[in-house]
Amino acid sequence: MRDADAQTIVLGAGLVGAACALRLAEAGRDVLLLDAQVPGQAASFGNAGHIATEQVFPLASPQVIRASWRYLLDADSPLRIRAAYLLPILPWLARFVWAARPAGFARGIQALMALQATSLADLHDLLAHAGVAGQLHADGYLRVWETPGGARDAQAQAAQVRPFGVNSAVWDADAVRRAAPGLASGVAGGVFYPDTGHVDDPHAVCAGLVAALVRAGGRVQQARAVALQQDGGGSVLVRQENSPPLRCRELVLCTGAWSRPLVASLGYRVPLDTERGYHITMPWPAGEGAAPGARDWLDRPVASVERNVIMTPMSVGLRMTGTVEFGGLLLAPDAHRLALLRRAMRALVPASQPDTASTWMGFRPSLPDHLPVVCAAPRHPGVFFAFGHQHLGLTLCGVTARLVADLVCRRKPSLDMAPFHVDRFA
Ligand SMILES: Cc1cc2nc3c(=O)[nH]c(=O)nc-3n(C[C@H](O)[C@H](O)[C@H](O)COP(=O)(O)OP(=O)(O)OC[C@H]3O[C@@H](n4cnc5c(N)ncnc54)[C@H](O)[C@@H]3O)c2cc1C
Repeated sequence: MRDADAQTIVLGAGLVGAACALRLAEAGRDVLLLDAQVPGQAASFGNAGHIATEQVFPLASPQVIRASWRYLLDADSPLRIRAAYLLPILPWLARFVWAARPAGFARGIQALMALQATSLADLHDLLAHAGVAGQLHADGYLRVWETPGGARDAQAQAAQVRPFGVNSAVWDADAVRRAAPGLASGVAGGVFYPDTGHVDDPHAVCAGLVAALVRAGGRVQQARAVALQQDGGGSVLVRQENSPPLRCRELVLCTGAWSRPLVASLGYRVPLDTERGYHITMPWPAGEGAAPGARDWLDRPVASVERNVIMTPMSVGLRMTGTVEFGGLLLAPDAHRLALLRRAMRALVPASQPDTASTWMGFRPSLPDHLPVVCAAPRHPGVFFAFGHQHLGLTLCGVTARLVADLVCRRKPSLDMAPFHVDRFA
């Protein structure tokens, strides 16, 4: 093997790839983490930082299908299909509707619950190994409402997931105000989910995982893969645009929303697409004239039922994220989505200054059944897949990395991996 080659290549240095690479290096593998750009710059950069253990219902649900029709007719709704992407997304949407039928939904809940059962513990263990456990705060999350309809929706959703072990408590306006004094007076109550958490900055988490990988003897290299191939001797080749291929014994593919063509180069078809999301991050005001007590506005993530946004207090500022937009990987961001976020931040936290916020759009890697692909490639010994973590890549990166390390090291994974197999789309 050449110097640049490795026993194990992890392709994609987002949260999922960085976590897998670290776990494999800890398991004694000689790991090379490859990415087309600096690690942690894609979906893992700007997410809401919410450890969403309360999400045990896949988004492909009868309820979401019912609500979608209403959303699609409203330009300000949290769900948008860009006109130019209507035709390309139709097959994905058809599979989404299929996955949401009662039997598929019920199977999805069992699969997601199996991942969520240990997601917070796995993430904590991973971050502790990486020396960045201080990033993680397991102190819950609040879903607030401003209208009686919002109160009904929020409490109904909490009641639906309660039988699946998701704890919650209803808080009145005073309790909400004590926890989040920066919220507008119109906020009338909320549901508190105590067993969830958040991180101070998801990008810093990813950078921490990569730094730990290097300390554990792993290497990081910038390279854009254009295709994968297996040679007769069993080695895996990572073909690049303008450089000779890299060779390895084991390859873990973690290229998020960009995984479909790489998987296809090995002959597997996956209906992966992207649900684009947006954020604004308002730096904490500092210096003369700064809003007093800004850092105390809220001390944990707060989501709004009516506005379909979530805000998280981060080390880099107050972040608000929202929107599911079908627009593929190439269309430019929609400025209207960012304007909606600014409007929502102003309404929910009146002292905020959303005009000072930085803006961002990211690509959630989503399969129609809203379960990730985590498996050994059936026809390519030594190749493993870990992508499609949709809205939950931060939450699930720890458990995914443990399961991937088990698969690569030929240990029996702790849960039934069938729901996450690539062949479910065959
Ligand atoms: C607005 C928004 C809010 C979110 N909020 C949350 C949240 O609160 N909690 C949560 O758990 N999740 C959240 N998510 C989802 C989460 O961010 C993603 O699921 C997660 O980041 C996916 O991680 P990943 O490593 O699979 O992909 P990415 O972070 O996208 O990483 C993929 C990497 O692969 C690299 N790559 C791609 N193609 C190639 C190639 N050909 N060659 C080399 N490298 C390549 C890319 O450069 C990139 O670095 C949110 C997402 C968005 C957009």
